[in-house]
Amino acid sequence: DLDAATAPLPSVSKSNVGHRWSDITSYATKKKVQSWFQLPNGNWELGRIMSTSGMESVISLPAGKVLKVNSDSLIPANPDILDGVDDLMQLSYLNEPSVLFNLQYRYNQDMIYTKAGPVLVAINPFKKVPLYGNNYIEAYKNKSIESPHVYAIADTAIREMTRDEVNQSIIISGESGAGKTETAKIAMQYLAVLGGGSGIEYEILKTNPILEAFGNAKTLRNDNSSRFGKLIEIHFSETGKISGAKIQTFLLEKSGPMCRGRKSNCYSIPGVDDAEQFHIVKEALDVVHVSKEDQESVFAMLAVVLWLGNVSFTMIDNENHVEAVEDESLINVANLIGCNIADLSLALSTRKMRVGNDNIVQKLTLSQAIETRDALAKSIYACLFEWLVEQINKSLAVGKKLTGRSISILDIYGFESFDRNSFEQFCINYANERLQQHFNRHLFKLEQEEYVQDGIDWTKVDFDDNQDCLHLFEKKPLGLLSLLNEESTFPNGTDYTFANKLKQHLNSNPCFRGEREKAFTVSHFAGEVTYDTTGFLEKNRDLLHLDSIQLLSSSSCHLPQAFASNMLNQSEKPVVGPLHKAGGADSQKLSVATKFKGQLFQLMQRLESTTPHFIRCIKPNNFQSPGSYEQGLVLQQLRCCGVLEVVRISRSGFPTRMSHQKFASRYGFLLVENAAEQDPLSVSVAILHQFNILPEMYQVGYTKLFFRTGQIGVLEDTRNNT
Ligand code: ATP
Ligand code: MG
Repeated sequence: DLDAATAPLPSVSKSNVGHRWSDITSYATKKKVQSWFQLPNGNWELGRIMSTSGMESVISLPAGKVLKVNSDSLIPANPDILDGVDDLMQLSYLNEPSVLFNLQYRYNQDMIYTKAGPVLVAINPFKKVPLYGNNYIEAYKNKSIESPHVYAIADTAIREMTRDEVNQSIIISGESGAGKTETAKIAMQYLAVLGGGSGIEYEILKTNPILEAFGNAKTLRNDNSSRFGKLIEIHFSETGKISGAKIQTFLLEKSGPMCRGRKSNCYSIPGVDDAEQFHIVKEALDVVHVSKEDQESVFAMLAVVLWLGNVSFTMIDNENHVEAVEDESLINVANLIGCNIADLSLALSTRKMRVGNDNIVQKLTLSQAIETRDALAKSIYACLFEWLVEQINKSLAVGKKLTGRSISILDIYGFESFDRNSFEQFCINYANERLQQHFNRHLFKLEQEEYVQDGIDWTKVDFDDNQDCLHLFEKKPLGLLSLLNEESTFPNGTDYTFANKLKQHLNSNPCFRGEREKAFTVSHFAGEVTYDTTGFLEKNRDLLHLDSIQLLSSSSCHLPQAFASNMLNQSEKPVVGPLHKAGGADSQKLSVATKFKGQLFQLMQRLESTTPHFIRCIKPNNFQSPGSYEQGLVLQQLRCCGVLEVVRISRSGFPTRMSHQKFASRYGFLLVENAAEQDPLSVSVAILHQFNILPEMYQVGYTKLFFRTGQIGVLEDTRNNT
C-alpha cells in the first residue's frame, strides 16, 4: 500500500496548532484517519474523517455523531500507538489538542510526569500518588525505572554535576497551586538521600516547615501558598556528600501571610492541626540552631504584628487628626517591642518633620495613621522573615566549606495574569520574562549543539526571542522600571502622572500599549497583560517613616534593634527627601523595583553558570481537587509556561531524529529496489527519495536523520499497513 506515500505531503504550517488537514486531505480521507475537532465549549474531541469535498469534511465523532465541518477546523491526531507517550516529542503531530490529550491520558492513570523534550511537565494530582519514597528513590538511582519523574531530574543533575564538574540548577515554575513547592521538596528529598550522611541534609529539609510557617498563607488559589520566591543552593563535597546550603528569598508579599490573624477570613484549614504545626516549627527552629530565647523573640514579633492590626485611633480635633487608643492592643505592642507606650503612641500618630532648621511635629490624620501602623507591621514582618533566613543560612553554612559543586533549586511564581494586575504581577511577570529568556537560550543552545555536532545546516532553524519585551522593562532612561523609579522620587508623582509618562514615552514600543485611565498593557511572551497602576508608586517606594525605625531602635530587646539597624542599612543614604517637600525625615531607600531587579540579575548570573533543568508545574483545575482535568485551564498554562513554546521551537527545527541505522532497518523493506547490500546511509537516502520527502523537510547528519514535524507519520502508517 504505497498510495498514501504518493499523496501530497504536508507543508510546514506557520500556525501554532499544527498542520491542517486540508494540506493532506486526500491522504487523510483515504485512511479515515483520526483528527481533532473542537467543540463549541472549547474542548477537543477525537473524530474520524469520513469524506472530504472542497473545504468541507464529514467526520464521525464518538457516540455515533456525524458532522459536516470546515476542513480547516480539523487538526490531525496521532495514531493510537502513540497514546500516552512519556515524551511529547515522540508525537508525530505536536499540536495543542494532541499534547493536551497525551497529558490527560497519562494523568488519568496517575502518571503525573511527562517530558516535553528537555522539560519535565508535572501535573498536580491533588492527592497522594504512589510515586515517592525510598523504594522509588532507589529505583531511579539504579536506573531501573525510566518514566519521567522529579527524581530522574534530580538524578541527572547529580550525575551531570559530577561528570561535567559544573553547577546545576533545577528551575521550577508554574501558577499558584500548581505544585512548585511540593516538587521542590520532592527534589530536595532525592538529593538528601543520595547526598546524605553528614546530617546536614536533615537540617536542610527542616528549613521547609520554617519558611512555610512564616512565608506561606492560605489564599483562594492555594491553602498553602508561598508568598515569596526561593532559591536554595545545596552544596556537595568532592565525595558527593551534602556539605551545606544557602537560601535566598525574593519579593516576600508582606501583606499576605501576616493577615492570617487579621483581616482575612481564612482562619483554619480542614485537616491542618495548628498546635501540631506549631510544634513542628519549634522543633525545626531547634534543628537550625535558633536558641530558645530567640524563638521567644520571634513569636513575640509575630504577636506584635498581629496586635498592631488591632490598634485603633480616636479623633482629637475637627481636622481629622487622631491619636492611638491606649487599650490592650497598644499596651501589648509596646510591651512586646520593649518600648514606651507613649513613644509608640507618638510614632503611630505623629510625624517629625524638618522645616528649614526647625523640627516640627505634624499630627497624622486617620488614614495616615493607619498607613503608618500597617507599614510598621509589614516592615517588622519582612524583617522577621529576613532574619530567619539569615539564621538558617548561618546554621547551614557554619563551619562548612561551601566551596564544592552545587545544585540550586528555584521555586518561583510563574507568569500571572488576572482580571486586575498590580505591582506584584508587574514584578513577577518581569522576572518570568527574564527566566523565559534563559530558557529559550538554553533550548536554542541545546538544539544548536546537536545540529552542529551532526553537521547539519542549523541556520535554517530560527527561534523566537523575548528581547524586545525585556528591553521595554529595562531600557534606561526610557523603560518601564526607570520611569517608575523616576516618578517614585518625584514629590508630586502619582499613579496618574506615572501612567501618563509611560504613554508619552513608550507608545511607539510594539510591546507596549497605553490604556484608558491609569492602565497599560504589556505583550509578554505568554500573552498580553493589562496592569492597573493604582498603588504602583506607593508599593515601589515602600516607605517606612524614620519615626518608626527610631521607635524600634529604642527597644530594649535585641530583635527589634536588629530590625531597626537592618532597615537603616538598606537605606542608601538618609536624605532630606524629595519625597516630602517640607524636608521629610524619611530615609531614601532603594525602591522595591530596583532591589528586585538587583536580586533578579544576581539570580540570573548564578543560573547562567549552571546547567539548567526545567520543571513546569501545571494545575489541572481550580478547585484543588483530584481527578478533574480542565483542558482549557491546562492549555492556557502550557502556553504560559513555555511548554508549547518548546513544542513550537522544536517544530520550527527538526524535532524527529533517527539514526541512519534505525531508519534503514525500520523502513528499508519498503524500498522497491532491493537495497540489502547497501550501507544504512544509502538505504536511508533511497527511502527519502522513493517517498518524495521534500528536501526542506529533512536534513541528513553524520549519524542521524533530522525531520520536520509529522514527516515520520506517513512512513509509519505505510509501514504498519504493509
Ligand atoms: P504557590 O505559588 O501558591 O506557592 P505552589 O505551586 O507552590 O503554589 P504547592 O503548594 O506546591 O503549590 O501545591 C499545592 C497543593 O497541591 C499542595 O499543598 C498539595 O496538596 C498538592 N500537591 C502538589 N504537588 C503534589 C504531589 N506531587 N502529590 C500530591 N499532592 C500535591
Ligand atoms: Mg509554593
